[in-house]
Amino acid sequence: MAPTGEGVSGALSREPLSSVWLTSTAREVGFHLVGFARAEPIPAAVLVDWLEAGFAADLDWMKERVAEKLDVGVLFPGAKTVVAFACNYYSEGSSSIARYARGRDYHYTLKDQLRAFRRHLKAKFPDVGTYGSVDHGPVMEKVWAARAGLGYVGKNGCLISPKYGSYLLLAALILDTEVDAYAEGPTPDLCGKCSLCIDACPTGALLEGKRVDAGKCLSYQTIENEGQVPEALRAAFEDITFGCDLCQDACPLNDQPVRTEHPRFAPRPVGELGVRELAGLSKEEFKTLTSGTPLGRAGYDGMRRNAAYALGASRDAGARTLLERLSSDSSPVVREAAAWALGRI
Ligand code: SF4
Ligand code: SF4
Repeated sequence: MAPTGEGVSGALSREPLSSVWLTSTAREVGFHLVGFARAEPIPAAVLVDWLEAGFAADLDWMKERVAEKLDVGVLFPGAKTVVAFACNYYSEGSSSIARYARGRDYHYTLKDQLRAFRRHLKAKFPDVGTYGSVDHGPVMEKVWAARAGLGYVGKNGCLISPKYGSYLLLAALILDTEVDAYAEGPTPDLCGKCSLCIDACPTGALLEGKRVDAGKCLSYQTIENEGQVPEALRAAFEDITFGCDLCQDACPLNDQPVRTEHPRFAPRPVGELGVRELAGLSKEEFKTLTSGTPLGRAGYDGMRRNAAYALGASRDAGARTLLERLSSDSSPVVREAAAWALGRI
């Protein structure tokens, strides 16, 4: 989602805002967790080392606006506080589609909640300036969520909360005003000697220092890569068509997940479809079934390409006829994926 900044920073000195009021307002509009961090610069190494190592693959937006990412004061002059929000999206069930993507697109949901929060804030404190962001643009929500005490970043690269584990979606709101209580920083790191997420990752994308090599990560490959996926990674697509939950599902801190009560995260019928059904969808069916979900990001051809890889990865002999049909599809990426899959079964 594009940032929703207002860029209006009042120069007046004000009393710090009540963290109790802000917290109860955040809960009222639907956020499960909220915390407050001082708007201090982020050490450059947090982002720059990762970028320089080439781990951003071709996620060009990650490489842009680095100065603003590292200092919200550059992005929003006068910034004093970053309010971090999180929503638990966990729902049961297994699917080749990652949990977060089985319901309504979380960008809309979190953006709506952020908008509602700002409406309340503006009604009570009209001269407070704000800049909001949901998972895209120059705000590093995960860093801020950890700084604001919502959890800590685990070896799987996810924010892990003591209450909800890592099935969380994040948003942030920068304020040009102080609040009356700030978090002390991240919650204690509970990873210890555990390496279950690293062992569970089929592509070796999780690296030392809690870094993720985006180019090797199936979340990136299934969604952002519009071309052909490198052959070395395709065999890892088994039962994976959009996003990947393997390193979260392996985490013992997710052993007792809290089922979300949020209706917008409830899985839609597309989440019930098997890999063969996803591979065989018509364009019209795809449009109808994925409307309002994040699945449109992969696109019709991308989703069928992923499903063809998944059928090949699992050597699904029952999908032969379907794959033969797809191997003469009008889309080159689908054709090539189907031919690769046929070669494996
Ligand atoms: S999302 Fe999947 S591919 Fe990416 S790091 Fe986790 S287990 Fe590996
Ligand atoms: S699986 Fe283990 S190492 Fe990985 S994030 Fe969870 S607790 Fe940490």
